[in-house]
Amino acid sequence: MQIIRTISEIRAVLDEQRAAGNSVGFVPTMGYLHDGHVSLIRASVEANARTVVSVFVNPLQFAEGEDLEDYPRDLDADVAYCRGAGADFVFAPSVEEMYPSPVDTVVSCPGVAAPLEGEHRPSHFAGVATVVAKLFSIVGPCRAYFGAKDWQQVAVVTRMAADLSMPVEVVPCPIVRESDGLAMSSRNVYLTAEERAQAPLLRRALDAGLSAVADGERDPAAVEAAMSEVLAGASLGTVDYAAAVPAHSLVADGSLAGEVRLLVAVKFSKARLIDNDGCVAD
Ligand code: AMP
Repeated sequence: MQIIRTISEIRAVLDEQRAAGNSVGFVPTMGYLHDGHVSLIRASVEANARTVVSVFVNPLQFAEGEDLEDYPRDLDADVAYCRGAGADFVFAPSVEEMYPSPVDTVVSCPGVAAPLEGEHRPSHFAGVATVVAKLFSIVGPCRAYFGAKDWQQVAVVTRMAADLSMPVEVVPCPIVRESDGLAMSSRNVYLTAEERAQAPLLRRALDAGLSAVADGERDPAAVEAAMSEVLAGASLGTVDYAAAVPAHSLVADGSLAGEVRLLVAVKFSKARLIDNDGCVAD
């Protein structure tokens, strides 16, 4: 496995691979890898001749006052995870390599990025879409693997790739969880022991929402109330939202019908946790 630091070098090696007839799978990450990331790398290794993992904490997607400086980093451990999962290349550029001068070009998806996370982190998805567009431009034609853990992010990236005719197939992958249901996240290390004990309530809230829909509830407000009731038990956190929405528009539109996504976000003292699950209301 090769560790590559520059845009010109990763471009050259991936162009060479494609010229030799090898398909490329791409897993973009911010590092501090865990088994959720590993599942994406394995999915890519299974479906592609070569897999590249990027490790880059992208300043553009952090707002003023968010955790950019504190974001956990451990490149040596990340390299070991990538090697163990069968990756061929790790692309780990510096901030100076990615942004040698202030960025003036911004990619935004004001529709799909607006609700939910967009309301609580207004500049976040423009930062994500911009860096992912840049990474897609660097990596070139590929399949790109994203976790359903960040459901709205998958929607934004899929829409961007389609709207801009990028030569990339976005592949969503299932959420990997701890044994008590907490979705794995690099930010879980921020949780205090007491907060960690309450964190599985996000999963339990989603279960309550799923049960309500399974029992025939079609009023989004009633499903949201069922989730909020469970989240009220997370006394150390503040609920940003508990939403029951159409899975692809993410905006409530009368009674629930067809593919539904339940999404929750809870802010603890330092860690802001998000989670989601889906079902069909027919
Ligand atoms: P991050 O490093 O947090 O930016 O995440 C990089 C990629 O890993 C994103 O596509 C995430 O959705 C995905 N990911 C993070 N946590 C999980 C998880 N628990 N299960 C599946 N995918 C995940």
